[in-house]
Amino acid sequence: MKKDYFRPAIAAMAGYMPGEQPDRKDMVKLNTNENPYPPSPEVEKTLRTLDCAQLRRYPNSTSDCVRDAAARLNGAARENIIAGNGSDDLLTMIFRAFTSPDLPMASINPSYTLYQDLAVMQEASVILIDLQPRTFALPPDLLEQAKVANLLMIARPNSPTGNSFPFAEVENICRKFDGMVVIDEAYADFADDTCMSLALSLPNVIVMRTMSKSYALAGVRVGYAVSSPAVIEGLMKLKDSYNVDGIAQAVAAAAMGDRAYLAGRVAAIKAARAKLAADLGGLGFEVVDSRANFVFARPPRGDGRGYFEFLRDRGVFIRFFDRPRTREYVRITVGTPEEMDILTGLTREYLKK
Ligand SMILES: *Cc1c(COP(=O)(O)O)cnc(C)c1O
Repeated sequence: MKKDYFRPAIAAMAGYMPGEQPDRKDMVKLNTNENPYPPSPEVEKTLRTLDCAQLRRYPNSTSDCVRDAAARLNGAARENIIAGNGSDDLLTMIFRAFTSPDLPMASINPSYTLYQDLAVMQEASVILIDLQPRTFALPPDLLEQAKVANLLMIARPNSPTGNSFPFAEVENICRKFDGMVVIDEAYADFADDTCMSLALSLPNVIVMRTMSKSYALAGVRVGYAVSSPAVIEGLMKLKDSYNVDGIAQAVAAAAMGDRAYLAGRVAAIKAARAKLAADLGGLGFEVVDSRANFVFARPPRGDGRGYFEFLRDRGVFIRFFDRPRTREYVRITVGTPEEMDILTGLTREYLKK
C-alpha cells in the first residue's frame, strides 16, 4: 500500500517503541518493569476453574467485576471506575476525549513517551514541561507552562525517573489547572501515598492504575481509571464495546481480591529496591530517589549507552532512553535478590574497564 493514503500526521510519525521483549531463556530481564514474581495463586485457581464453554459468549461489556473489585480497594463506587485493556487502552480513550488540533496536551518531561505519540495521533499540540535537573522535581512554573493545555499528564511516581512529587503540590495543580489532569499511578503500590482522594473529590482529575506491574499481570492487559461518575460516563462513550476480554476480567478481579499476597510481594520488591539503590550509590552512581519498582541511575562517567550495552552483551537487559535529558542515565527494573546480585557483580566488572 502506498504510504500517502495515510493521514499526514500518521505518515510522519515514528510510532511508539515499546521496550524490547527478547526471546532468550537465560537472560535477566530488567527492562520493562515487570514483576519478578508470579501473580497471586488466586489467578491460577481462576484459570483452572474457568468454564471454557462460556467463552462462546461475549464478556460483560463494562467489566463490572473488575470495577467492583477496584471500587472495594479504593473506597469508591462502581460508577467511579472504568476498566481498560491495560492502561494503554485507557490512555487512548482519554486522548480521544480531551485532545484535538485545538485542544493541546501538556506532559512533564521526561515521562512516559506514549503520551506524546497519542497526542500526535490526535493532531494535538504537545507542551513538554521539563522536570528540574538531577532531582526531576516539578518546576515551580508548571501551571504557567501548562496554561493553554486541555489535558495535563502527570505520572506519579514518574517513569523513567522513579521519583514521586509532593501530594500538596499535585493537589494545588489539580485545583488551579483549567482542564483535565490525569495522574498515571502505574507504580503507586510501590509508593508511600496516592492521589486517589483527588480523583474522588475534584471534577477534573482522573487517576489511572494498571495490573501490569505490582500485580504481575502484564500479560493479561487490565487497567482501570478512577474519576467522578460524569467523567467515567463520558469515557464509556469512547471505549471499544468489549474492550476487556472475559478471561482477563476474571483474573484481574481475583488478583485484586488477594491483598495479602500483593503486600508481601511489594514489600520484597521495596527491600530489593533499597539495596539496589544503596549498592549503586556505593559504586559511584547517582541514584534518583525511587518510589517505583525500578531505579533511574547515572553511571559514574554518565555513559548510559556504554553501561547498557555492556550488560546487554552479558545477557542482562535494562533500559536506555537515547534522548537529550535521559541519555546519561539508565532505568533498571527491581528484580529478585539473585538477579540484583548478578547486576551488581557485572557493574563492578564494568567499572574496572
Ligand atoms: C507500564 C506503564 C503503563 C502501561 O500499563 P499497561 O496497563 O500495561 O498498559 C502506563 N503508564 C506508565 C507510566 C507505565 O509505566
